[in-house]
Amino acid sequence: MSPPKNATRAVRIGSRSIGGGHPVAVQSMTATKTQDIDATVAQIQALAEAGAALVRIAVDSRRDVQALRQIRHQTSAPLSVDLQENYRLAEHIAPHVEKIRYNPGHLHHHEPQKSWQSKVRYLMEVARDHDCALRIGVNCGSIAPEQRGRFGPDDASSPMLHSAWEHCEFLDDLGFTRYCVSLKDSDPERVVTMNRRFSARRPDIPLHLGVTEAGLPPEGIVKTRRALMPLLAEGIGDTIRVSLTVPNDRKVWEVQAGQEILADLAAGRLLAETDSQPGGLNIICCPSCSRVENEAFVELAQQVRELTRDVQDPSLTIAVMGCRVNGPGETDDADLGLWCGPRQVHLKRGSHNLGSFAYDQVLVRLREELDRLLASRQRQGSSSPGVE
Ligand code: SF4
Repeated sequence: MSPPKNATRAVRIGSRSIGGGHPVAVQSMTATKTQDIDATVAQIQALAEAGAALVRIAVDSRRDVQALRQIRHQTSAPLSVDLQENYRLAEHIAPHVEKIRYNPGHLHHHEPQKSWQSKVRYLMEVARDHDCALRIGVNCGSIAPEQRGRFGPDDASSPMLHSAWEHCEFLDDLGFTRYCVSLKDSDPERVVTMNRRFSARRPDIPLHLGVTEAGLPPEGIVKTRRALMPLLAEGIGDTIRVSLTVPNDRKVWEVQAGQEILADLAAGRLLAETDSQPGGLNIICCPSCSRVENEAFVELAQQVRELTRDVQDPSLTIAVMGCRVNGPGETDDADLGLWCGPRQVHLKRGSHNLGSFAYDQVLVRLREELDRLLASRQRQGSSSPGVE
């Protein structure tokens, strides 16, 4: 028996719809280079065959758009595109996809003299003219500047929520209702809180659910289940993604993990003992995408987990990010962060840069920093990290 569904409005994406009582759909995203057309088409097909109702691709340049055009000719799978800083690419992308995701926190980068309202109006007109849906995709690592600083440090959810509400109201005022919203955070509890709050105020708007940077399986699957299962059981959520840091040939695991969540809910199996918070450190890693700068990133994330297995302190977070687009910002809140360039890995303590190191040298420096951090915490008595 499926859980009850909130009465969101139906939003058409190509030939299918989300919300409005339609079954919850599982999505995924390619991690191949978009300009590697054969590899990207193969991954789209694999994800679609595994059951992904929509596959998202990163498009950041005119060359990516040219690749997208050829990809479109080779697959009929419903496609969504992830817009980052260059929002003006939308008019070239829209003829080839069913949906465009924009991030309110990235609109200020390009043409900063223009208001976000004029940019969203443009995106709405492009979507309307090309029969596309939109997603307002709000992410904890890239909060819109107009919302930053409006709320206190103990109220991390409000800037994201207000950003989403503001964009919804703006699109509503323009008479455009073919959109959904996502509010993603790397903290599962915050994902639950934010989506509940959003849904209480805007029960009409379909929600796409996910935990950003959930990380390596199995921990990334556990984090996602802890966030999504309570929400879906309450009828909140219309599409889902389980973001996992895995090699390209295992990307279908994202779809399988999403389907398992839905199957468990349909069977009345809510959170199991295996879904309790894993021990060790809290390692957050991005799922990688076309923007990843070196495919050694996935292996690096696995090595970080091995290197830190002896430390039992889930209050301590290490972030591992795959590129310079989101890496610098999305490592700021972690105790220690690594973000990957083509040949160097940048190491941070909080928002402080510690330098860049070769892939085969950064782990030694990371461990030194970790040991220093643990020693400092023990001295302060602020925490009792256990080291086996
Ligand atoms: S951090 Fe970069 S590589 Fe990783 S998912 Fe985000 S945009 Fe893609």
